[in-house]
Amino acid sequence: MDYKDMQFNTKVIHAGQVHDPVTGAHVSPIYQTSTFVMPSTEEAIRLNQNQDQGFTYTRFGSPSAAELERKIAILEHAEAALAVGSGMAAISTSLLTVLKSGDHLIAGDVIYGCTFALITKVLTDLGIEITLVDTSDLSQVEAAIKPNTKCIYIETPANPTLRVSDIAGAAEIAHNIGAKLIIDSTFASPYLQNPLDLGADIVVHSATKYLCGHGTVVAGVLAGSKELIDRARFPILQVFGAVISPFDAWLLMQGMKTLGMRMERHCSNAMKIAQFLEKHPQVEKVYYPGLPTHPTHEVAKKQMKNGFGGMMSVDVKGGIEAGKILMDNLEVVTLATSLGNIDSLIQHSPTMSHFDMTKEEREKVSINDGQVRLSIGAEDVDDLIADLDRGLKIVANKLNG
Ligand SMILES: *Cc1c(COP(=O)(O)O)cnc(C)c1O
Repeated sequence: MDYKDMQFNTKVIHAGQVHDPVTGAHVSPIYQTSTFVMPSTEEAIRLNQNQDQGFTYTRFGSPSAAELERKIAILEHAEAALAVGSGMAAISTSLLTVLKSGDHLIAGDVIYGCTFALITKVLTDLGIEITLVDTSDLSQVEAAIKPNTKCIYIETPANPTLRVSDIAGAAEIAHNIGAKLIIDSTFASPYLQNPLDLGADIVVHSATKYLCGHGTVVAGVLAGSKELIDRARFPILQVFGAVISPFDAWLLMQGMKTLGMRMERHCSNAMKIAQFLEKHPQVEKVYYPGLPTHPTHEVAKKQMKNGFGGMMSVDVKGGIEAGKILMDNLEVVTLATSLGNIDSLIQHSPTMSHFDMTKEEREKVSINDGQVRLSIGAEDVDDLIADLDRGLKIVANKLNG
């Protein structure tokens, strides 16, 4: 049976997996080695010069990373995938694969804080021109095109306001001018969307988040055509060296087996919590793409499968002070950056994940001072609602005397 004919949970559990042929170990071993023994000098030369396929040195690839890459490629319906040492490594590797000095990049103006820093500080220093626009409005993307535009970079749903951009529409714009479309699909995971099916050229994930699911690993993955992924591996990953450790690749694969079950639960919990918070007197606004009040709900409905994810942001009434009181008074939800874990997390986007942006830059894109970001876990939803309700009551009591 071909993986293409299987449904999500079967694929995510079985795809890429090898049962060790030497010992019969059901779960494949962790190949915790830096180098590989060569059968002969002749073969060593061929392998080192990439004339033959095989393992030579873990920075160039390892059996544990290769197993993970097969799994990711199957889940993202890609010809090939590459596993790297962090989500930022996946993003920088993908951008350096398609851009060079003198090129122009169009990127979303709501993106992960470090991606914002990479694009606005590092890429500009390397001689790459940039334009940031609201990518949920494709006319803004089209208006930003220049003769040297080589790449469009979009995060959808976007961190932290959950703004959803139309991937198929952006792909059409990119391909009309011979540019590449890169999608950061971290918030969705392959359970909720497959950007390559919608025309994207490269999909990237911070595997630290939903793919791992348990907060035990920092890692990243990218997937796309064999041609692009080969270029990302040789020379970009090879020379910048943002390699994934065999242990982390192995741990990720164990976490990923429950991705479908976890996402189903994250989605249903998040929907109930978003509906609860939207009606709460201490809440100004809820940003969740599953709510009909979210500005990009319609695109989300069209583009995302199976649900709207486990991420939301909330403007708490009372500004930054209210957000602080809430975060300091929750008992089940943990105050921590990161997301996509089995347990619920809360953080303050303006001062934590998005501190790289100025106040004006943040407010222009609705990252308001009283905004907290919630990563809804897989706990029992009634306990989460009770925890948030208790915390919001403390906010009300403290602020209103
Ligand atoms: C966390 C995150 C990243 C960065 O990933 P790391 O694994 O922390 O390097 C990139 N994009 C999004 C949307 C993220 O949430």
